[in-house]
Amino acid sequence: MKIEADWLTPNRYSRSQRPIKEIRGIVIHWVANPHTSAKANRDYFESRKSGTLGFGSAHEIIGLKGEVVLCIPEREMAYHVGARAYCAEAVRALSPYPNNCTYGIELCHIDWEGRMTRETMGSLIERLAILCTHWELDPVNSLYRHQEIVGFKDCPRWWVRHQADWEAMKWLVRSEMETGESCMTFK
Ligand SMILES: [Zn+2]
Repeated sequence: MKIEADWLTPNRYSRSQRPIKEIRGIVIHWVANPHTSAKANRDYFESRKSGTLGFGSAHEIIGLKGEVVLCIPEREMAYHVGARAYCAEAVRALSPYPNNCTYGIELCHIDWEGRMTRETMGSLIERLAILCTHWELDPVNSLYRHQEIVGFKDCPRWWVRHQADWEAMKWLVRSEMETGESCMTFK
């Protein structure tokens, strides 16, 4: 797995450098733009520093070839789940402002259904196993789709529409953590 740090320039709209005290969950997103690269999406977050596009960013992006681009250090907040209101369950498990205790991962995808490549999926499973181990999180109850936090968003589309695949993915991460082998079953 290729991991590259390409940190955003500190700025108010995508990298404010506000601290995260404790990571309580990891939130998964899709970039909502088929066939765009991790680097292009990182550059889009960078372009938000002008302010005209409003707030928005994530800690890392996983590309179509499985490459990982780190945008924001883990101890700084990203703006990936901002909303006027949050689901009660997310507030209970995380905080009244979940940006302040979650790590955001954006996934590149190949179509408008949100299908991902085998390479993207492989890197995601590996990254989640590493991060959950690092923060001592159980993937089965600490991984969230963006939609579960805010209630309304169709993000990440594939897993919002394929519940069983989402549940299976969490168990693959747990298996990867326990054995180092996730037995990839995704097509
Ligand atoms: Zn999202």
